[in-house]
Amino acid sequence: MSATAPTTPSPAGWNFDNSYARLPAMLHEALEPTAVREPRMVVFNHALGQELGLNPTALADQAAIFAGNELPEGAAPLAQAYAGHQYGNFTGLGDGRAILLGEQITPTGERYDVQLKGSGPTPFSRRGDGRAALGPMLREYIISEAMHALGIPTTRSLAVVTTGEKVFRQQSLPGAVLTRIAASHIRVGTFEWAAAHGDKEALRALAGYTLQRHYPELVTAEEPYLALLTGVMERQARLIAQWQCVGFIHGVMNTDNVALSGETIDYGPCAFMDAFDPATVFSSIDRNGRYAYGNQPQIAQWNLARLAEALLPLLHAEEKQAVEVANAAIESFKTTFERHWLTGMRAKLGLFTEEAGDRALIEALLVWMREQKADFTNTFRSLSDAGKTMLNNHPSFIAWHAQWQQRLSHQSQSNEVVQERMQAHNPAVIPRNHKVEEALAAASEHGDLSVMQRLLEVLAKPYVDNEGRAEYCTPSGEAPGAYQTFCGT
Ligand code: AMP
Ligand code: MG
Repeated sequence: MSATAPTTPSPAGWNFDNSYARLPAMLHEALEPTAVREPRMVVFNHALGQELGLNPTALADQAAIFAGNELPEGAAPLAQAYAGHQYGNFTGLGDGRAILLGEQITPTGERYDVQLKGSGPTPFSRRGDGRAALGPMLREYIISEAMHALGIPTTRSLAVVTTGEKVFRQQSLPGAVLTRIAASHIRVGTFEWAAAHGDKEALRALAGYTLQRHYPELVTAEEPYLALLTGVMERQARLIAQWQCVGFIHGVMNTDNVALSGETIDYGPCAFMDAFDPATVFSSIDRNGRYAYGNQPQIAQWNLARLAEALLPLLHAEEKQAVEVANAAIESFKTTFERHWLTGMRAKLGLFTEEAGDRALIEALLVWMREQKADFTNTFRSLSDAGKTMLNNHPSFIAWHAQWQQRLSHQSQSNEVVQERMQAHNPAVIPRNHKVEEALAAASEHGDLSVMQRLLEVLAKPYVDNEGRAEYCTPSGEAPGAYQTFCGT
């Protein structure tokens, strides 16, 4: 991104500079949202509005803007074109129910996409209606904000409005539009789209743009496109390691749902695991467990290989050499991921130093948790509460605990410092499936938003001890894997 021309924000704070619209035409289609019957604000994120340089008091009742009935000043709406590998199969996709309004430049000079999701049909809608139901949009709002509070890179949610229209998903449901804020919506699938069309110039423009926007430090690298690939790999490795460390299961890790910014994107059939089991799958359509918890790192690598493939024409003039360069890069993913995973897991166990035996120590705990069907979040959190560390008097746990204490004694940090580190890396609260469902049911079926508001408040401080919040920390008690989330939202 070249330095943004200084502009004067509108009274509501809108300050758009729409660089994506200036990319080659094959990457987007100019298009306005389709107006809805009766926009009504359901939830507006004041804190996020403020961070974006918007004026929350001026905007919080402007449902018409967040429904797509009125355009904010400076918007240049478009649908983005992209392709993707869905469950392993290549398809042309694109924004079928989303419209990018433009890029908001914040008071500190950062650039964020402002996108409406559920804003009506586009040339990419295929057989879909271009719309979204209230429940799934609130679900994305809750989970993305929870992820943000956990410190995990993610798109965010600025607003949800209802449309006054019905959508049909096996049953009739209230329609809604989510305003999604993202570092960008450039996906692995965006590169696959340009590559599949054999448009090398569009591919080069997109790669140059992505470097400028997300990896400015790599623009001057000797081999910038290889640097882009390895830069994206590094961020994905870190992201997936963070998911693994909180038990987050994305559920639909198709290449169109992998953002080059390194943010978690597209909250469809996702959920947090209760009882620890790497085979846990939530998505109702993921029958083979392709996107199970334990497969996420491998799938990320597979998705990155699709990015590498798309980048081949830019990596070397000779295809054979391009493939060699790409393969070498992709092979390094496992090591990069493990480095991030070990860093995250060490922090969860209060370790400040590195020892060769750490991996075995971590794995031994995970094996025990799996055998005992121990709750992922609560087991780690209870380890960090000195008083409760003997959370279990199972002999194999006692043996593990002694080993862990022994390991902790190798480092010089005081107990308080160790405990602080652990509490900062082991959340007390995550969005428990039944609490999310309870909030969604109250909102969509009874128009009662108070349950969700309370849940959002609790989730905003996940690392704080849970005085009076016990109900948010209890697993649902369902059989593991019984909880299902749905695509086609
Ligand atoms: P997702 O599963 O949300 O990542 O979406 C995959 C693709 O399906 C994207 O191209 C979406 O834009 C499209 N899509 C999902 N739902 C709808 C809908 N209701 N109408 C049109 N397109 C949709
Ligand atoms: Mg998607």
